[in-house]
Amino acid sequence: MYRMVADISQLTDILSETMSQDHVTVIETLSKPKHDEDIAAELSLKPTVVRTLLNDLHIKNLVEYERSKNKKTGWYTYLWRRREDRIDDFVQSHISGKLNDLQKQLELEKGGVTFNCACNRVNMAEAMETNFTCPACSEPFTESDNGKVIKKLEIEIKKLNKIRR
Ligand SMILES: [Zn+2]
Repeated sequence: MYRMVADISQLTDILSETMSQDHVTVIETLSKPKHDEDIAAELSLKPTVVRTLLNDLHIKNLVEYERSKNKKTGWYTYLWRRREDRIDDFVQSHISGKLNDLQKQLELEKGGVTFNCACNRVNMAEAMETNFTCPACSEPFTESDNGKVIKKLEIEIKKLNKIRR
């Protein structure tokens, strides 16, 4: 199973930030190797849909397959399995990227007074540089209370640090 990751729901959350719910469901259903038509039956999806989902996951190296020829029909069948090692790397690198962004944001928030417009958050120096008007949306920058934002960021960072290796 997923090594080192605190629990499956956290993993699922992280995966669904980067891919569709259907992709996540296919990964979940591959708790053991399965043929694509069996996955389709299990999830009540069209086999063509499942194959597309599997191909997407294969491009990301999250699943692999074993091809074998049916001697009677001459058709190829594909046995799919998920790559636990790759999923783990994928999740971990996503966590690292996210932590990096959150840390930067936290530093900005802690750096003093923060100003808001409709599209951005900036510090005092940046607000002064632009005469307290956002160059992107032309809205005035207004001072915002960032205590709540800091708290929220700290909680999120703590949560991610727990599942990070
Ligand atoms: Zn703006």
